Amino acid sequence: MLHGIIFDMDGTLTKPNVDFAAIEREIGAKTGFIIEYAEKSSPEERIRALSILERYEAQAAIESELNEGVCEILEVIDKKNIKKALLTRNSRKSVKTVLHKHGLHFDFIATREDTIKPKPAPDPIFMLSKQMNIHTDYLLMVGDYKYDIMCGKAAGAKTALLKYKEYIETEVLPDFEISNIRELIHIIEHYEKAHQNL
Ligand SMILES: [Mg+2]
Repeated sequence: MLHGIIFDMDGTLTKPNVDFAAIEREIGAKTGFIIEYAEKSSPEERIRALSILERYEAQAAIESELNEGVCEILEVIDKKNIKKALLTRNSRKSVKTVLHKHGLHFDFIATREDTIKPKPAPDPIFMLSKQMNIHTDYLLMVGDYKYDIMCGKAAGAKTALLKYKEYIETEVLPDFEISNIRELIHIIEHYEKAHQNL
């Protein structure tokens, strides 16, 4: 059975709209992932890089649009009494902006301020698993990037990759692939059937 579903935010609940190339240009270095770059940098550079990131994220949150089917699937999950959580490398402030803008509510939220190690480390899922009081065996991690899948697998959770047409990820294999978030209903039903057949 699935007792909980953990959602990535950017690109999963919302359409991808954080311009990481522009952030990198403004920082003025080949940063790769900004959070990891900031961690490796001097305290001054860390503050500068994160403040640039936060400015872009804040703007992206204000302009955010939900992916098609998100409201419907969240309703289905609530009706089935499956707990839902949000797990993002984004800031708590941007998460609040996005949830408020679209009238969404999550009881369990892990942002980059909440855990020592962000995705792809499993730590944020372990934290959510404790808060939700659900063993990771019964959790599904849903995301649009390999870090979501790596994080879910390392934590022992089930994983579903939301795939965009132009995005073909081959480094890590998810348990499920979906091309629209509504397809989560098939995964939920798959586990319901498996449970009924026990
Ligand atoms: Mg994402």
